[in-house]
Amino acid sequence: MHELSIALNILDVAAEEAERRNIGCVEAVHIKLGPLSGIVKSALLSAFDLAREHSSLPDSRLVVEDVPIVIYCEPCQAEQPVESIQELVCPVCRTPSNHVVAGREMEITALEIAEPEIKA
Ligand SMILES: [Zn+2]
Repeated sequence: MHELSIALNILDVAAEEAERRNIGCVEAVHIKLGPLSGIVKSALLSAFDLAREHSSLPDSRLVVEDVPIVIYCEPCQAEQPVESIQELVCPVCRTPSNHVVAGREMEITALEIAEPEIKA
């Protein structure tokens, strides 16, 4: 399964980062996910649930931020958000564009860290 290897990779990167920064407990891993990344969000979330159990971050959650698709429109000379993933057309002048500016990304944006317990 495609999403499982991606989930494992996210956990690997997060675990490495946590170790490098000396973080004991990662509560959540935040990622940005574009609709053109080829990754199915729901599949990735369930794959992450499976994968984390055998990782060094068994208690972490995956938080997905959806990224809109943005194209560069030649006639408008501007970046425009796309209304539908099926049709990469400019919402203003309806010109199709293959110049995708955003929407393909899958990147880790943040690690959410548990507040350290303060012992009295
Ligand atoms: Zn346009």
